[in-house]
Amino acid sequence: AAKTTKARFRRYVVELDDRADEEARLGAEMRAALDAGQFTLVYQPIVSLPDGEIRYVESLVRWGRSSPAVFIPVAERNGLIVELGEWILRTACAQFVAWQAAYGEFAPERISVNVSARQLAEPGFVEVVADTLAGTGMAPGHLIVEVTETAVFGGGVAVRAVEELHELGVNIALDDFGTGHSSLGLLQTVPVDVLKVDKSFVDNLAMAGRHAVIATALIQVTDGLGLTAVAEGVETAEQARSLYELGYRLAQGYHFGRPVPEPAFNGIGVAAG
Ligand code: C2E
Ligand code: CA
Ligand code: CA
Ligand code: CA
Repeated sequence: AAKTTKARFRRYVVELDDRADEEARLGAEMRAALDAGQFTLVYQPIVSLPDGEIRYVESLVRWGRSSPAVFIPVAERNGLIVELGEWILRTACAQFVAWQAAYGEFAPERISVNVSARQLAEPGFVEVVADTLAGTGMAPGHLIVEVTETAVFGGGVAVRAVEELHELGVNIALDDFGTGHSSLGLLQTVPVDVLKVDKSFVDNLAMAGRHAVIATALIQVTDGLGLTAVAEGVETAEQARSLYELGYRLAQGYHFGRPVPEPAFNGIGVAAG
């Protein structure tokens, strides 16, 4: 028995080692990619219901074929997210300003940028945002900073950063709302403008079970507090229709448009169905 335990432990150490190697390799590749300008942004429409017209866009980072769900956490652990995040913010704001100039009334009203926990806790982050807005000539009210519940759970530096951004006039969105530890409690302690209701509540809406009950409760909370709700991950016309009937007026998902380098800003939407 001692022998197998030892062998198992050795295999475990090798696995840990492999994982550390992989993490270091990915980190080095990302560093090089950032210097070589190989990250790009795509933008997904956030549309009004029921007409499907583009109101906001969310920026999402891309790096070749790797998923941000994999490389963003690596960048958070090795600290590269700070520099990458500044690039993302600057690029998204510059793009937004260019769209406003090019598309006028058909341009989106706001752009949403994802900010990770590490970025939010970084000293000077609020200043970076303020400088970026000033540098691009963008009014704070056009920017939405998307933070996750876990990033602001526990208060501290992250919550102070959110408060300062809010005071600047930047909109704050709670991402993946309803999946964290203290979703409703956070609404009492963090200044929030937009709730992004997680895809898990949108899935199976038509089955009229628990999902529909929660989706209904969330829109009541949002309306009651004077916040804006965005339903995430809407993939079918049926979901869009159910959401509209429940009172949702903003939605995002493959049904309305995938993330692309340049959404079609032509005032013609994808109807809820
Ligand atoms: P998220 O912020 O919750 O972004 C939504 C994700 O859902 C995106 O995946 C988007 O492409 C995907 N999505 C949108 N509509 C649908 C739909 O109808 N069905 C399904 N199945 N998926 C849909 P993506 O781009 O792969 O990003 C994954 C996560 O990586 C993001 O989740 C976010 O947490 C992180 N991320 C992406 N871009 C950035 C960024 O610029 N900065 C930071 N800090 N994190 C980012
Ligand atoms: Ca997001
Ligand atoms: Ca989300
Ligand atoms: Ca997510």
